[in-house]
Amino acid sequence: MIEDCIFCKIVKGEAPSSIVYEDERIIAFKNIKPVVPVHILIIPKEHIPSVDHLENKDGELLGGLFLAAQKIAKEQGVAERGYRLVFNVGRDAGQTVDHLHLHLLGGTKLPFA
Ligand code: 5GP
Ligand code: ZN
Repeated sequence: MIEDCIFCKIVKGEAPSSIVYEDERIIAFKNIKPVVPVHILIIPKEHIPSVDHLENKDGELLGGLFLAAQKIAKEQGVAERGYRLVFNVGRDAGQTVDHLHLHLLGGTKLPFA
């Protein structure tokens, strides 16, 4: 838990969010500013700043993020047509919140690779 981290606050229920999935180590919620019809953020409850800060011990957690994405995609009705999973890492990639998050994007034909 980092005091001024908005996603840690969401994990603790101190900031509002529209939660679509939760388990022991992970929660997922709707992006406040969606760029596509289905735009979910899947995060570990533990504060890890980015992919660049992952360690060997985080392998199972990382797998959990992808399995959560698979479930959410099905529930949100995008599994069949397809969806994209994105980690932005650092400033040049557009990372604005320094708490690891996997974007699940779908519900429309997505541009570029
Ligand atoms: P990044 O640009 O770091 O990869 O993605 C951060 C995302 O978090 C942005 O798409 C932004 O819209 C979203 N976001 C930032 N603050 C909040 C918030 O308080 N609640 C929710 N639900 N999403 C947020
Ligand atoms: Zn955090």
